[in-house]
Amino acid sequence: MTQLQSARKGIITPEMIRVAQRECVTPEFIRDEVARGRLVIPANIRHLAGSAGAAPNDAETRILSRPDAARDSNPVDRGNGFPQKEVREGILAPAAANSKSAAGGNGHSGNGHHANASTIGNSSFDIRHSTPTGHPGHRPDAAFWANQTVAQRWAVINDPNILRGQSAPKRLDPMGIGRMVTTKINANIGASPVKSDTALEVEKLNWAQKYGADTLMDLSTGGNLLECRQAIIDHSTIPIGTVPIYSMIIGRSIEDLTYDDILKEVERQAKQGVDYFTIHAGVLLENLHLIRKRITGLVSRGGSLLAKWMIVHNKQNPMFTLFDEISAIMREYDVTYSLGDGVRPGCIADAGDAAQIAELEALGELTQRAREAGVQVMVEGPGHVPLHEIAWNMQIQQKVCDDAPFYVLGPLVTDVFPGYDHITSCIGATEAARAGAAMLCYVTPKEHVGLPKADDVKQGCIAYKIAAHAGDIARGIQGARQWDDDMSKARAALNWPKQFEIAFDGETARALHDEDLDVDTDFCAMCGHDWCSMRISKEIQEFASGKAEGFQPEKKAMKSPGLTPEQIQLLAHRGKKHDCHSDNVADAQEAERVQREYVQVGVSGQ
Ligand code: SF4
Repeated sequence: MTQLQSARKGIITPEMIRVAQRECVTPEFIRDEVARGRLVIPANIRHLAGSAGAAPNDAETRILSRPDAARDSNPVDRGNGFPQKEVREGILAPAAANSKSAAGGNGHSGNGHHANASTIGNSSFDIRHSTPTGHPGHRPDAAFWANQTVAQRWAVINDPNILRGQSAPKRLDPMGIGRMVTTKINANIGASPVKSDTALEVEKLNWAQKYGADTLMDLSTGGNLLECRQAIIDHSTIPIGTVPIYSMIIGRSIEDLTYDDILKEVERQAKQGVDYFTIHAGVLLENLHLIRKRITGLVSRGGSLLAKWMIVHNKQNPMFTLFDEISAIMREYDVTYSLGDGVRPGCIADAGDAAQIAELEALGELTQRAREAGVQVMVEGPGHVPLHEIAWNMQIQQKVCDDAPFYVLGPLVTDVFPGYDHITSCIGATEAARAGAAMLCYVTPKEHVGLPKADDVKQGCIAYKIAAHAGDIARGIQGARQWDDDMSKARAALNWPKQFEIAFDGETARALHDEDLDVDTDFCAMCGHDWCSMRISKEIQEFASGKAEGFQPEKKAMKSPGLTPEQIQLLAHRGKKHDCHSDNVADAQEAERVQREYVQVGVSGQ
């Protein structure tokens, strides 16, 4: 039974419970969102089991898939506060199948759905994150928040005992995609015919997970695709997506693709444990004439390949023709549809044209067919869109696709900054997240110009975490803003260790701070002591800036804990260290006096 089928029957699955914990909402809220199709949990039963492509052992696999289950020998209560048998049979699901959530509209009220102590706060759910509490702030119910920091994520990736599979090194930690929960980001990786290396792709996976990717797509078109895909699935705790048509044409031309080839490849990848498939079934023969007026035609690889097949054979898109058969395979393994936008605009000039809208209408119909088949579905979107048209794109997708989660690529808001397209697209992604996109597919600096390396993956992920979080704040996602407010309190208190702990990428922030001044004191090298407005504000008692309880530094000044080898390497790439303000005051003796008086743990120039 898929997550969608379970939700419709009123069953709260272990995966729904896990998603609820990560989103700080109730399991019933997640079940309700899944039942109405507004949230998906991409979780192939093979990836959940960590079975590395082998068949799951027995019927208990779904239960064993819970992250704490391997360490929990109690067959009745596996640690989440619910008797497991009752969870599986849906006894604890209080609402009727398909009941509607009280929350509605474009925003996220969170009211009535937020987890309380009886469901999550007191849970003994024992996933061993490096720090016992996550963000926002140190709220106990945010311990497993979806937006774990880089340090927390890295500890999980490197913990050999966490989320172990039955035979694979890792297994899936379920997550949810929907506009009523935190906005997610996807990272694309993949070998190309020009450059392929499975170990390198696994390294990119680790970088993507470390820097915030919630899902990852393996878009490999070169090398040993089967081996590379399996290695990625086996090392991943986040859902893995693919575009199966890429593998279908290895060793043959698109014209030779048969229905049998398509179904066999879909089944092969489902068995491997792929969690979601991009299927370009909305590119229809009767709509192809609409692309003639475009500047950039079809920019989707899958879309262009299928268009060629249709023109050569003068037949309907085989993905559309086989949609029900593909759905049956996906249902068996609970693979989620990501209905591909094969006709997405590839430049600003083509955005919002008749071809794009015709495909969207087809995707709306396919969304209903997938749901009727019991398969979870999300919908992919553009691409390149001018900033002022992005909200409109989000609104029509919600309407046409009946609120299925919208998974957008960028979109890029201008076409003239190659080399910086992680920024041009991040601007569009922020607006998309604000207007209701559920997942943002990242773009790296290598977009349009080359194959991303590990550092490009980092740059893309960070840009998109910013977009997703900014969107969450704007949409009022419960708790998102609290994270920022905690950072502001630490910043006002000039509590550097706290700032780096709260920061999403504290390791980079710490390295940049120490590049100029490796002392944590009541100013930094940006303005220096005499010009530090934060410090001056703290001194003006009546404004009480920087006095928040729990955010005071242990000492007024203390030596930095020192940099890791990775941080030292990061700084080495940045060239010569900047002098700090106190190095450059006109009077050297005065500079030393300031340092001696305020820093007290070391004086520059000595
Ligand atoms: S020196 Fe300037 S940048 Fe640094 S903490 Fe003070 S006000 Fe902020």
